[in-house]
Amino acid sequence: MSASPPNDRWIVLKFGGTSVSRRHRWDTIGKLAKKRAEDNHARVLIVVSALSGVTNELTAIADGAADAASRVAALELRHREFLAELELDAEAVLGQRLAVLRSLVADPRATARTLDWQAEVLAQGELLSSTIGAAYLSAGGLDIGWCDARQWLEAMTIPNQSAWAQRLSVSCDPRGSEDWRARFCAQSNRMLITQGFIARHGDGGTAILGRGGSDTSAAYFGALLKAQRVEIWTDVPGMFSANPREVPDARLLTRLDYFEAQEIATTGAKVLHPRSIKPCRDAGVPMAILDTERPELPGTSIDGNALTVPGVKAISRRNGIVLVSMEGIGMWQQVGFLADVFARFKKHGLSVDLIGSSETNVTVSLDPSENLVSTDVLAALSSDLAEICRVKVIAPCAAITLVGRGMRSLLHKLSDVWATFGKERVHLISQSSNDLNLTFVIDEADADGLLPILHAELIDSGAMPVAETSVFGPRWRQIAGTVRARQTPWWRSQRARLIELAAAGTPAYVYHLPTVRARARALNAIGAIDRRYYAVKANTHPAILKALVEEGFGLECVSLGELRRIFEVLPDLSPTRVLFTPSFAPHPEYAQAFALGVTVTVDNLELLQQWPDMFQGRSVWLRVDLGRGDGHHAKVRTGGRDSKFGFPFERVDDFIAAASATDVRITGLHAHLGSGVDTAQHWKQVCDELGGIAERIGTVEVIDIGGGLPIPYTADDEPFDLEAWGAGLAEIKAAYPGFGLAIEPGRYLVAEAGVLLSHATQVVAKQGITRVGLDAGMHTLARPALYDAWHDVVNLSRLDLDADAPFDIVGPICESSDVLGRRRPLPASTAPGDVMLIADAGAYGYVMASHYNLRGLPKEEVLDV
Ligand code: ADP
Ligand code: ASP
Ligand code: MG
Repeated sequence: MSASPPNDRWIVLKFGGTSVSRRHRWDTIGKLAKKRAEDNHARVLIVVSALSGVTNELTAIADGAADAASRVAALELRHREFLAELELDAEAVLGQRLAVLRSLVADPRATARTLDWQAEVLAQGELLSSTIGAAYLSAGGLDIGWCDARQWLEAMTIPNQSAWAQRLSVSCDPRGSEDWRARFCAQSNRMLITQGFIARHGDGGTAILGRGGSDTSAAYFGALLKAQRVEIWTDVPGMFSANPREVPDARLLTRLDYFEAQEIATTGAKVLHPRSIKPCRDAGVPMAILDTERPELPGTSIDGNALTVPGVKAISRRNGIVLVSMEGIGMWQQVGFLADVFARFKKHGLSVDLIGSSETNVTVSLDPSENLVSTDVLAALSSDLAEICRVKVIAPCAAITLVGRGMRSLLHKLSDVWATFGKERVHLISQSSNDLNLTFVIDEADADGLLPILHAELIDSGAMPVAETSVFGPRWRQIAGTVRARQTPWWRSQRARLIELAAAGTPAYVYHLPTVRARARALNAIGAIDRRYYAVKANTHPAILKALVEEGFGLECVSLGELRRIFEVLPDLSPTRVLFTPSFAPHPEYAQAFALGVTVTVDNLELLQQWPDMFQGRSVWLRVDLGRGDGHHAKVRTGGRDSKFGFPFERVDDFIAAASATDVRITGLHAHLGSGVDTAQHWKQVCDELGGIAERIGTVEVIDIGGGLPIPYTADDEPFDLEAWGAGLAEIKAAYPGFGLAIEPGRYLVAEAGVLLSHATQVVAKQGITRVGLDAGMHTLARPALYDAWHDVVNLSRLDLDADAPFDIVGPICESSDVLGRRRPLPASTAPGDVMLIADAGAYGYVMASHYNLRGLPKEEVLDV
């Protein structure tokens, strides 16, 4: 290694519990320390946590667990085994420390569990791990010395803090003197290793920084040493837009400023201890969060120069929140009421987090990571508060927080988020005065499963600007390697043929039958499904209808026009393979459908009541509304009060009564809550709910769970996980073996099979935006204008060139919504006459095309190779 670096060049590396629990990770630690020292010509301080899980055990012992002795024995064994793995002499390295651990259980203070004793117990994990690290790294040849953090970090006395907080949740002063620095630097080894989590108490004993506090130890050392940087090495490659273990689609946050990082950490992102940011921010020390298992990844950088990008950066959750609701009469006007209330919190050393107030009520929250909110403390507080108001304690609650700059100006994008919270019992909503967060407090049990939904809503609405590459990186699933790749689309290998077809006239839809068949076969392979119907409204081209019937699919129609079309194309098709599921159709259509012999689905009572003769003696399927909708856009959700579809499930008994009055037999039960649903759980749940209702009806033979299967339209979308879907259905099927299970997908079968070909008409630059005009527009493909739908667009004529310039892609219709895509990358040389391809247009393309502006309908072509 090179000559001694100057003493003002330090790099602090902190390694968390999982990072220090395996031998190969210690090898990584050694390599990293060496590399940092050499590359930066710096001295290195390594701060470590206890081996993973050890602090939990020590906490149980400090809390007075009855089996403390056996827990200590297990801890001893764990450490001895680890030393064996490291090929170190356990007795020589750890003998003394393990003896201290054993003696603590027998300590006279253990009976009363005095706070100083608890702190000493908790400190043992880090003392053990740092001792192991020093031994292993020096055996590996590093010039490294061990130091006791308690010699260097001193707990501050903070006014009004409870005795608990002053011992077990302390803060330290990060502004050290020159003398402090000089003494620290005088330690002879080039590298040092010390403990996170512990400090010196004012009485000379041990103090603890609070759970997760090792990050803060590293930050204090970083600030005190005016380090080049503080790196937090953990088990995820950075701070994410949500806990990646709970939200696999969470995005890596590549760069954050201290304030946003602070807010994300404070509101629950355990990856960084909330108190670790301020010391670094005040001292201007940049921080990084990195993954010990994947050291090559860039991680998250936190510094003072990060670009300010407005928008939600993260959503986090804190559990164990206690709400204290205080009810008084006319108190708001009462001088000093709040002072009296807060004096009582102060008396019990409790710091208040969120506050909500009204004329007669003040509700505050207590965060368990900042307070000792034991039953004893709460009982004492409640009895004190009862002197001045009526008190109610609500716990356990979860606080779910959206974090990001400019929260107030984002409200219009949060409507889906509000709607999701609207389904829960929200106890408190709080918006921080720094405009960096918005918090909802709900019952802890209700919060499970909510974060992935909210995270998806934030992205869909644009509130979380994931396209901003200066802040947002890849998804956790991409990094973890669990993403299923999109297949290469069929049209890439058919380019020449498509250009030929375009020369014969555009706009033109081209359908690739092998792709349709492949999707059909994939669905045929799902064993849990007994009947498959193709929802023909997606695409009624005769070749597609024929191909799907050949693959064994029945057909589902929603109008008399569709019924006529399918029997025209397939005169021999048995009507028993056809469903008729209209919405608010004129009643003669039902009569004609019965006459054709197809299965009719109804979704209201009024039909039966007004035209009893038409239904008399018939069998029908009933479409129910399960009370909610789902899908890729509000306009395609087909359930819930605001949707015109389906009979409310809670009134099914009324329908049964009306059916028996008209001698109608309910043989099928159907629900379809929306299109492009991307939660695989959705159908399983629908199936389960329908099964329950079907059992009540008694005459049902088939449960039809609808369609709505999504396809990957954007590069970020993953192909639908058919296997997981099938497995979920099989589980439910097993619970309701008496019913046949039916599906009726449309999009899934045909969307990817179709492309729309078009010619570029004009390329025009205006005030910084370049537009390419096409002879296709909203009259050809309505989905973008109707649902903000995304379709990939490529320049087929210049497919080999880099798509390096942004274009808005527009049609020829006199409407400002005639835009097929905004800021889409295309080759900069894109010019009039180029053949443009709009992908994934096989579903809801031609069937929605119109003559608007008296423009012609597109052509349709079929490829069968
Ligand atoms: P260490 O032991 O290394 O200090 P922690 O368990 O304290 O590690 O912190 C890392 C964990 O933080 C991750 O495994 C992850 O589950 C959790 N976490 C919670 N929220 C986030 C987030 N927004 N980004 C990254 N990780 C998070
Ligand atoms: N070992 C301590 C804990 O588990 C401190 C830390 O890991 O940051 O809370
Ligand atoms: Mg931690």
